[in-house]
Amino acid sequence: MLTRREFIRTAALFALAPRILAEREREVWVNDVHSQLNRTRVRELLVPRTRDELAEIVRSASQKGLPISISGCRHSMGGQQFAADSICVDTRSLGRVISFDQERGLIEVEAGIQWPELIRTYLDAQRDNAKQWGIAQKQTGADTFTLGGSLSSNVHGRGLEMKPLISNIESFTLINADGKSIRCSRDENNELFRLAIGGYGLFGLIGSVTLWLVPRQKLRRIVEIIRAGDLPKRFEERIAENFLYGDFQFSVDEKSPDFLQRGVFSCYQPIDKHEPIVAKKELRDDDWLDLLRLSYTDREKAFQRYSDYYLSTSGQTYWSDTSQLSAYLPNYAKKLRDQIGGEESSLIITEIYVPRDALSNFLAEAAELLHSNRTIVIYGTVRLIEKDDESFLAWAKQPYACVIFNLLTVHTPGGIEASARSFRGLIDLAIARGGSYYLTYHKFAKPEQVMACYPQFKQFLDLKRKYDPAERFQSDWYRYYRKLFASS
Ligand SMILES: Cc1cc2nc3c(=O)[nH]c(=O)nc-3n(C[C@H](O)[C@H](O)[C@H](O)COP(=O)(O)OP(=O)(O)OC[C@H]3O[C@@H](n4cnc5c(N)ncnc54)[C@H](O)[C@@H]3O)c2cc1C
Repeated sequence: MLTRREFIRTAALFALAPRILAEREREVWVNDVHSQLNRTRVRELLVPRTRDELAEIVRSASQKGLPISISGCRHSMGGQQFAADSICVDTRSLGRVISFDQERGLIEVEAGIQWPELIRTYLDAQRDNAKQWGIAQKQTGADTFTLGGSLSSNVHGRGLEMKPLISNIESFTLINADGKSIRCSRDENNELFRLAIGGYGLFGLIGSVTLWLVPRQKLRRIVEIIRAGDLPKRFEERIAENFLYGDFQFSVDEKSPDFLQRGVFSCYQPIDKHEPIVAKKELRDDDWLDLLRLSYTDREKAFQRYSDYYLSTSGQTYWSDTSQLSAYLPNYAKKLRDQIGGEESSLIITEIYVPRDALSNFLAEAAELLHSNRTIVIYGTVRLIEKDDESFLAWAKQPYACVIFNLLTVHTPGGIEASARSFRGLIDLAIARGGSYYLTYHKFAKPEQVMACYPQFKQFLDLKRKYDPAERFQSDWYRYYRKLFASS
């Protein structure tokens, strides 16, 4: 979502320039949405409305020898979507559905489209059909993600037996450093297909994406409160019973023995297509903010409220795609500060991967670590992922349990370092168990942790320069790792 200032600026620019819109006179600052800790000054913010304009931006930047950074909805938190003094391309106006093959369940969309618009469009197109298609997975926790940003981070949802998003991608078009649009798939330009998915915008501008849809299904949510020690077994049992989606939201009450040890286990089971969809209770943005406020102020009560709410929805029925939509308020940090005061702060996420049989033991040690570091966890979840055997910078190196922590981070050097220290501690616990972590959320990992988890990183950077020798596509994230690996 554009900030009010950006919106006014962009609207004015739309009026002034019929094609490419640029801010040339004043300083342009951009930031990530969730942590608000990546404030960056860019040379220009361009809002192209067509894929031809995208190509024109690349050609023009090449002529001027300027770097380009690419941003979608700005949810990454490691500076992947911005580069200081670059031309920053905001892709969100490229939001159309290009074609929908209802025979094969293939949908081609512009890369700036966000999940709600994609879902709305295909639902409208097949309203009266007996057999309908839907997305297999999207991120949980928010909806305002672009498809381009989702591909570039190779995201995942809460599927119980799913690989990351690459498994749902048929092809995409990429505007390369020469300004040419090329098609990448498993059969064409395969190396680029494997590099750009999960490649954080370093190989070109994704213009369009063709996504495999899956048959939409009706599902029943079944909720129970269980202990983390039973989780691996319960996940297995749910999979054996053909449940499709599920996660475990753990207690974040650090004063309780249940801290990371007890949680709300919600899973989704296919039901007969004739059953009605009945989901009377749902979490709206305000309810979500209320729960978040409780997590800041009274984590015991927050878990109780969350558990009661979820248990009360057990048995409700949903569609497989729309059940993945989530409430989220982009300005949650400010709203909470207005309500409860305190220092400027926000949440930084981390996602840690551990072999599934090491999950309980990891959670127990993670609880000790977070205790001793006095770290406040505002919410956290466990999900599953299957091995990704396609993308170059694959994070799902084996079937893992994925543990997500949202840490309260005070916006002071000390506050940020405190969260970074806990993230590094959690990564060490994962590495000790053959696990890993997600590159999307921060770049706090120590160099040796990056190399242990992503031994292919140096080769990834070499391949970036093979495809983009002039380093047209850059980000602060890229610059950081370029320097790190140059000195290693
Ligand atoms: C609250 C929250 C919940 C989240 N939940 C999940 C989750 O459940 N699962 C998960 O996997 N991730 C999750 N994420 C992470 C999120 O999926 C990624 O950060 C994703 O990249 C965000 O998409 P975006 O549109 O905001 O992209 P941005 O953050 O704007 O960009 C991300 C990357 O994509 C590149 N990019 C964007 N568009 C293009 C394009 N058209 N061409 C080439 N490169 C492009 C950018 O350069 C950048 O490197 C979550 C993040 C938040 C803040």
